[in-house]
Amino acid sequence: MTLPKFAFFKGQIVPYSEAKVGILTHTFNYGTGVFGGLRGYWNEEAKQLYVFRPFDHFTRFLESGKLLLMDIPYSKDQLVRATLDLLRAENFRTDCYVRPLAYYSDEVIGVRLYDLKPEVAIASIPFGSYLANEEGLSICTASWVRVEDNMIPARGKISGAYVNSSLTKTEAHKGGYDEALVLNQNGHVAEGSAANFFMIRRGVACTPRLTDNILEGITRRTIMHLLREEMSIEVVERSIDRTEVYLAEEAFFCGTGVQLASIIKIDHRPIGAGRMGPITQALRKLYFDIVRGRVPKYLSLCAPVYQAQAGAEQVHP
Ligand code: PMP
Repeated sequence: MTLPKFAFFKGQIVPYSEAKVGILTHTFNYGTGVFGGLRGYWNEEAKQLYVFRPFDHFTRFLESGKLLLMDIPYSKDQLVRATLDLLRAENFRTDCYVRPLAYYSDEVIGVRLYDLKPEVAIASIPFGSYLANEEGLSICTASWVRVEDNMIPARGKISGAYVNSSLTKTEAHKGGYDEALVLNQNGHVAEGSAANFFMIRRGVACTPRLTDNILEGITRRTIMHLLREEMSIEVVERSIDRTEVYLAEEAFFCGTGVQLASIIKIDHRPIGAGRMGPITQALRKLYFDIVRGRVPKYLSLCAPVYQAQAGAEQVHP
């Protein structure tokens, strides 16, 4: 991976090599940070780099901080502006990924979430696909269980919780699968290692409820809206059994990183016809057009990097 040229660090854009923390930093030791993951999409026709739903990502970022008693010292507008400034400094003319991190910067020993100073760092790298095989994933059910709301809240993007994601992803890869489907403590489907889950069963799109120990995904919200409003497909948020997935017509993961990745096999059983289904296919096309700023109706979801103003936050479903 090529390292970034710049980072947003301690309130300003600095060379990436200067964005450093000491080894006793609280979050580095205890996982007490929160982070985000945004994508920038290069639109060649418009010669523009669009960041998808940045205000929504930073809303969740601030909310995740709140879960950790972390008073992040920037407003949502300031964080969006810092992201766009950073991308302009990088001068990307390609798809990219943005990683904001809020961390407790004190170099101290002791587990707690108070009397600590939060800082924010943001870095970005050029980025293509996150999953090698996003048109046809073969997945397994993880033996690891998703973190629970009263352990480490899954609804926020909390650094320490990604030990759980790393365990599941590693188990899947070492076992010869592309990804894992992670169940919650009740034995119902939660999500992938770093993506939300949908299945199509009897023509209805089903996705786990927000109270099933899942991250409150922004792509999930976008997909629910597109299924309902653009494709007239019923969407139900409900608990899903593992074996319902075995009998689904289609299934996919969605998230900023994975985008929209079709699942064609689970635990050695083909899903539907064992190839990407028509709903997933149509949804992928629509999603990729929207994030790249090619659909005027949804252009307000995309923040242009190469113009003077960040634009104002708009309310979206
Ligand atoms: N679940 C987890 C555990 C994740 O890490 C991610 C990636 N942020 C998602 C779901 C998808 O969330 P989003 O659509 O907001 O990127």
